[in-house]
Amino acid sequence: MADPTKIPGATPLVAAKLKTLGLHSQTDLVLHLPLRFEDETQITPIDAAIPGTSAQFDVTVLSTEIAYRPRRQLVCRAEDDSGQLVLRFLNFYPSQQKVLQPGVRLRVFGEVRGGFWGSEIIHPRFKMLHGEESLPTALTPVYPTTAGLGQATLRKLITRALDEVDLADTLPDELVSRLQLNEFSASVRSLHAPPSGLSAEMLTAWQRPFWLRVAFDELLAQQISLRQAYAARRARGAPVLAGEGELIRRLLAQLSFKLTAAQQRVWQEIEQDLRQPYPMQRLLQGDVGSGKTIVAALAMLRAVEAGYQAALMAPTEILAEQHYRKLAAWLQPLGLEVAWLSGSQKKKAKQTAIEKVGAGETALIVGTHALIEDGVEFAKLGLAIVDEQHRFGVRQRLALKQKGFQSHQLAMSATPIPRTLAMSVYADLDVSVIDELPPGRTPVVTKLVSAARRDEVVGRVRDLCAAGRQVYWVCPLIEESEALQLKTAEETYAHLTAELPELKVGLVHGRLKTDEKAAVMAAFVNNEIQLLVATTVIEVGVDVPNASLMVIEHAERFGLAQLHQLRGRVGRGAAESACLLLYENPLSETARARLKIIYENSDGFEIARQDLHLRGPGEFVGARQSGLPLLRFADLEDTALVEAARQAAEDMLTQWPDHAERHRTRWLGGREELLKA
Ligand code: ADP
Ligand code: MG
Repeated sequence: MADPTKIPGATPLVAAKLKTLGLHSQTDLVLHLPLRFEDETQITPIDAAIPGTSAQFDVTVLSTEIAYRPRRQLVCRAEDDSGQLVLRFLNFYPSQQKVLQPGVRLRVFGEVRGGFWGSEIIHPRFKMLHGEESLPTALTPVYPTTAGLGQATLRKLITRALDEVDLADTLPDELVSRLQLNEFSASVRSLHAPPSGLSAEMLTAWQRPFWLRVAFDELLAQQISLRQAYAARRARGAPVLAGEGELIRRLLAQLSFKLTAAQQRVWQEIEQDLRQPYPMQRLLQGDVGSGKTIVAALAMLRAVEAGYQAALMAPTEILAEQHYRKLAAWLQPLGLEVAWLSGSQKKKAKQTAIEKVGAGETALIVGTHALIEDGVEFAKLGLAIVDEQHRFGVRQRLALKQKGFQSHQLAMSATPIPRTLAMSVYADLDVSVIDELPPGRTPVVTKLVSAARRDEVVGRVRDLCAAGRQVYWVCPLIEESEALQLKTAEETYAHLTAELPELKVGLVHGRLKTDEKAAVMAAFVNNEIQLLVATTVIEVGVDVPNASLMVIEHAERFGLAQLHQLRGRVGRGAAESACLLLYENPLSETARARLKIIYENSDGFEIARQDLHLRGPGEFVGARQSGLPLLRFADLEDTALVEAARQAAEDMLTQWPDHAERHRTRWLGGREELLKA
């Protein structure tokens, strides 16, 4: 990565500040675009100022004093020919007080308010006027910055960078004209410095085509980088996993259900990948309950048929164990052993499992991140599957990639990501989607219930459990404090135990030890617990078909994806199921809109699409914190632009590789190492 101390004109102190802003080179400065503009081209008479708007005034100081009410502050009175103005400083230096002497002339900029003593500006920007000073003729850019780095310094550095950096287009002429884009150099110049005379009102419309160009460039850089990573991995070898299909036929014949059309389709996509002599890099997306596990099992069997090992890793003990049980139930009848590896396992059992895996005696391995710990060596790993991969840390993902360097990789996720976003965020993966639920599921009825009616809800829990059903009760999410969250869960548990003495009530939360957690979950699975009070630890993957009611307290505090995942815990059996979303009045406008989305939709992808619309992509992309640089200028909802960038990336990589390389360097510098995890 470039060194900010080498930026011409930057002192070591300034360089340090630039580094905080992520600016390492003059090119980075060129791409550091203004947040907004201020109009310093005119002087407004004080009596013409409109409260609530920013304006510039030339004034003479009348008096300056420190006032102590309501708190210590510096109050400066000033005037022009038309009236008086108060300049108020809540934080100030003695030097400021010294400067603001009666008779001194100032040029002041700030937002005017109607105050107690007439018009005032709080913390105005000001400079002393010596004689006649001319006004700028163009709007003044305001840049994102950090404490200790002033706008004037940034402006100077950026202006210099615009002069010194090679701004030649990285896109070939042919693409620029085909896509009807503006030139790069004209675009950045126009975004930093609009022409003289352009008014603040005209600015947005005038700059739009230039913003479009940088947004496109940014998306293009992302696409190029991700596709290069994809190509690099593809250049490595992987074992061809093909086989007779005998084991697979036997598994399918022995299942109590038939694969859905969607499951068959994704299985064919995966099977095709496994036949190639280079590694599969595929993401399998499917809503909760869509049946990803059986597809994973088929892929694992294919590895076994080809004489290789297959590993399945899940982010929590509970999830991993469910996978283990399911796979064992399916595969042991075929005469195959499934090995189990987890952190909480007894030392001896773990050692035995590690030895068998190392000797190649066991072909199928399921576990938590214990799978990637030191000491675990696979004899012949052909396929690595990661469930809910976004819940693993970067380090863990890298470790698995290293262990399975030469193996096929399949990631599974129940977090639905809208198509445009997937295209962008997962441009380095092939994506398969199970877009259909197995038949015979009764849809979950969702109801919004005011917390004032909690007693009725408790009554309903009582009736259902009396009829032999089971219930989840999810405690309010308290993001600020894990301790408070735990306390609330314990209180909820105490209340419900008292209110429903005839029921066996259990409590599961994140602070429990893994084996304690597993014991509670096992009791719930075996119907030894009827009502399970839980924090969001039950979020993913848990499968208890007899549970037919889910109560979520303070539903308004949860994210939509989370609510959708939680709701997916019920409706897994034949019984009619319901999800009651308890909310606390009054609901904010957005909270209402969000709950409406979850109430009206059962399709995870549709929910994700509407959620994206409501929140913007930041939080979705957050799911891949491995370091996809957040897009600064582009909007991932702009499907057409994302699609155009994807296409252009492909064209450039095949027809104009030098341009592609220069483009990537301009936008990402050395930074995209982060992307590769
Ligand atoms: P998820 O995609 O959420 O991981 P699972 O793989 O756990 O879903 O599947 C949910 C449930 O549906 C499991 O009990 C599984 O055995 C069952 N299932 C999977 N595929 C089918 C199918 N085609 N028909 C009926 N049931 C199925
Ligand atoms: Mg699952």
